[in-house]
This record gives sequence, C-alpha cells and structure tokens, in this order.
Amino acid sequence: MHRTCTVCKKRPAVYYRRYSGDYLCEKCLSRTLERTIHRSLASTKKLEPNSKILLPITFTNPVHSLILSKFIPRIESEYNVETIIAVPQYFYEQLKNYKPSENLHVANIAPPSHDVTDPFYCWRYDRAWSIKLAKNHGAQAIVLPLTRTDLNLLMLEAVLRGQSFLLSESLPILQLDSISIISGVQRAEGELLAAYLALNKDTIPLVKTPCRPDLKNAKLLFYSVAVGRPELEFSSFKSISLLTRKLPLKNKVCSLCGGYSDNGDICSYCRSYLETINSLEIVS
Ligand SMILES: [Zn+2]
Ligand SMILES: [Zn+2]
Repeated sequence: MHRTCTVCKKRPAVYYRRYSGDYLCEKCLSRTLERTIHRSLASTKKLEPNSKILLPITFTNPVHSLILSKFIPRIESEYNVETIIAVPQYFYEQLKNYKPSENLHVANIAPPSHDVTDPFYCWRYDRAWSIKLAKNHGAQAIVLPLTRTDLNLLMLEAVLRGQSFLLSESLPILQLDSISIISGVQRAEGELLAAYLALNKDTIPLVKTPCRPDLKNAKLLFYSVAVGRPELEFSSFKSISLLTRKLPLKNKVCSLCGGYSDNGDICSYCRSYLETINSLEIVS
C-alpha cells in the first residue's frame, strides 16, 4: 500500500480502516484503538475515580484481553483508577515474560472442562470467575474484550438458537450487584484489533486457550449481509436488535455470571461449574 496516512498526513499507511475510510499509519492505528477503548469505557459512565477495575485474561479471547492490557497505563491515568490484571494459572507459563503491570495476580482457576466450543459457555465461565475475583478484590468494574463484531455475532447466535436468555451476552454492559461488566472494545470492529495484533505480534503473545467459540452459523448469516462492509457492524447492531424482540424476555439475572438465567437464581451454565468457581483461589 503506497499511501500516506489520512490522519497525520505524514507517515506511510499500513492499514485501511473500511469502517471510517481512513488509511492509517502504525501510530495512528494505535491511537485510533486507544480512542476507541476510551470511548467504549466512557460511554458506560461506570468508571469512578479512585475505584478498582479488574482486567481478566479471558479463556474465551486471551489475545484480545492482552491487547486491552497494553492500554492499561492510559486507562489508569485517564480515569484515575487502579487496575488488577488477573491471569489464570493455565496461562501463566505462556505469559511468564509478560509484565504489563505491577498489579498482576495469578488466579487458581481451572480452565473450562467441557463444551468449550459454545461461546456462551466460554463467556459465562469467564464472567463467573472474574466476578468472584472482583468481589474478593473490591473491584467495581470488570473489563472484557468483546468487540462490536463479537456482540453482533453473539446476538445473532442467540436469535438463531431461539433462546432469549442468551441475549445478555450481546449487551455492552451487564450489572451484577455493585459490579459493572463492560466491554473495553465494544466500539471497535474486530478487524481493527486484528490489524493492531498483526502489527504488534512481537509484543503480544499468541497464547493457546481451551476455548474455541464456534459462531459458524451466526458468521455465515452476518457476513452474507455485511460482506466487505464492516460499517454495517455498527448499523446492523440496531437491525439485529429489532430481531431480538421476537424473543420474549422474561429472564432473571444469574447471580454468578450476571447474564440472563434460564434456571432461576443460577443459570444452567453456571450450575455446571459451580464447584470450580467456588473453589477459586488467588495465588499471588
Ligand atoms: Zn498517521
Ligand atoms: Zn450464570
């Protein structure tokens, strides 16, 4: 690509952002992502000054969590918050050279043991252990790495399965008691993170995870409509939201994962790993 960055108008462009039509140099791409993270967090109005936030390195998408962790120093100074980065022991060996922050805690939480291709299982499991940890550490917010693309796909998947209790996964913010669960990249399209990762692959470890969320059907449907036009990811969110009204919403909130429950106080997913979550310990 022999183009000049359309933002700084100086450096050579390395990425074409289809959503905005900008050609971005490496520096402006990083700044764009940073601004997107800032807006994603600011729009929730949930980060209070002097509060603690928890950034879990998720089983569902550890790499996107690691990308978020690169922006922690900026988040901390911008919002005057303290961040705890929680690394499941499962990743510890793979991440032993990775020190994004002093405030790194290793959580003695087992990786999900079965059905790890179900995206709802994966996200609920990640939320359940993160909520437990946030409560232990007095954190008021949990920052997850769901992009706008992820939220769209999860919403479609819930609609395709015809299960309204799964719609909570596509909400940009969930609230459980005093804890807000927010997505730090909800205003970014998946492509933007993929481009950032491609340019920073030396500093972001491509860790292996037992979660491989399968969103095949939702992807087929989504990209047959939005092919080559990721701007639709933003407008389509509204259209898909209309679809969801077909599903009657009368679900309680699960007291463990903060998602809608199909099963009273604790959702059927959380029931299956209740013991694991209860035995969660923090090693350091
Ligand atoms: Zn630039
Ligand atoms: Zn649950």
